[in-house]
Amino acid sequence: MLRLFDTASGEVRPLRQRRAGQVSMYVCGPTVYGPPHLGHGRFSLVFDVLRRYLVWCGNDVVYVSNITDVDDKIIDRAAREGSTPEAVARHWEQVWWEAMDRISVQRPTDDPHATAYIDDMVRLVGDLIDRGAAYLLDDGVYFDTSSVGDYGLLARQDLDSLRAGARVDVDDAKRSPTDFALWKFAKPGEPAWDSPWGPGRPGWHTECVVMSLDLLGPGFDLHGGGQDLAFPHHENERAQAVAAEKAFAGHWMHNGFVEVAGEKMSKSLGNFTDLGDLCDRYDPRAYRLLVLRSHYRSPMEVSDTSAGDASRALERLDAFARRVAEVVDDATVADAPALAAFRDLMDDDLDTPGVMDLVFTSVRQVNALLDEGDRSAAGPLAAAVLEICSAVGLELHAVSDGDVPDELVALARQRDEARAARDFALADALRDQIQDAGWIVEDTPSGTGIRRP
Ligand SMILES: [Zn+2]
Repeated sequence: MLRLFDTASGEVRPLRQRRAGQVSMYVCGPTVYGPPHLGHGRFSLVFDVLRRYLVWCGNDVVYVSNITDVDDKIIDRAAREGSTPEAVARHWEQVWWEAMDRISVQRPTDDPHATAYIDDMVRLVGDLIDRGAAYLLDDGVYFDTSSVGDYGLLARQDLDSLRAGARVDVDDAKRSPTDFALWKFAKPGEPAWDSPWGPGRPGWHTECVVMSLDLLGPGFDLHGGGQDLAFPHHENERAQAVAAEKAFAGHWMHNGFVEVAGEKMSKSLGNFTDLGDLCDRYDPRAYRLLVLRSHYRSPMEVSDTSAGDASRALERLDAFARRVAEVVDDATVADAPALAAFRDLMDDDLDTPGVMDLVFTSVRQVNALLDEGDRSAAGPLAAAVLEICSAVGLELHAVSDGDVPDELVALARQRDEARAARDFALADALRDQIQDAGWIVEDTPSGTGIRRP
């Protein structure tokens, strides 16, 4: 049984599933106004690994992740660039998905956009006013945090200490510094939608309550995001659900921060925190390996050294995939103790560093067995390694880059990605393209293989 740390209860506990065999999860997506940074990459990969593992365990997973396409930062950028908020959001959303594809993060089941849910948000705000949990000021509608008895749960602090620690603006008319905007009245030139209180736009914390409950239903299984979202964003989502008497997330999961080290890296790249820059400079799979090698709740340090190490480790895994291609086929049964060890590690609050130790230890064992010529013992353990890597989304390249033209290797990798995304029409088209170039395409346990006829 999968046990995960739950921020609300402050303990590692079983992930309760509303329905057996199904997992409903909501992960807060990006506000699209700039390039994705390493923190975005980390949360996307952490929850992608969790999702893939849940599927590997036999669950149907509904994974919802939103796009915040109306926000002060988008409006500011549009004003600076003489553009429109819509154009800014559209452009950076495109960049976001390209970056996610590059690091092989599977697309969400649903990716709701805030601007498509304005009517539902207006209804929720109206309901909160009717219930006495929200009030009107000159610049918008605010949530009254004193209306929720356990406000501060996800911050692990009570309302009084949160109030004492909050920054107060002199001209702030809010009843409490912890109160937050549900609806912001539009200033001239800003995007605006009609509401019973005046034209404006929703506050950020409202969209995720409305969209998660609409797409996943009350009492969905898991809500996640980076640690910086636990408070105030997630706490404010939760407070609205509590005040509106709606059953909300059963489990709260948050991943740790990314720390960037290495002066050399920041100098040479200019902007080392950019996920795209990291993928340009290293194997794009290196970041997934770094994320897997860190426990998701710990801070993770990224440096030239760690990214370079990860790239070299991937070369070793690719070499392994090529070497074992001849001892593993579809009929090979993966070594059961190795898979059981994998499951135990993952079920223990996603011990992915332990999983990576298991993988590399097993790789050494398989290589030793092959060196001794013991193919029958090597096959099952090799198959387990390939299955574990695939289960955590680490694609290994069984194709030798040396023998096959680069453009065909690239097509083979695109085909693996298309198959992972269940786009079989594209996968077939790519296979045809490789065959038309005069090569034989083979499906190997670690992906598309190419060989001479
Ligand atoms: Zn959110």
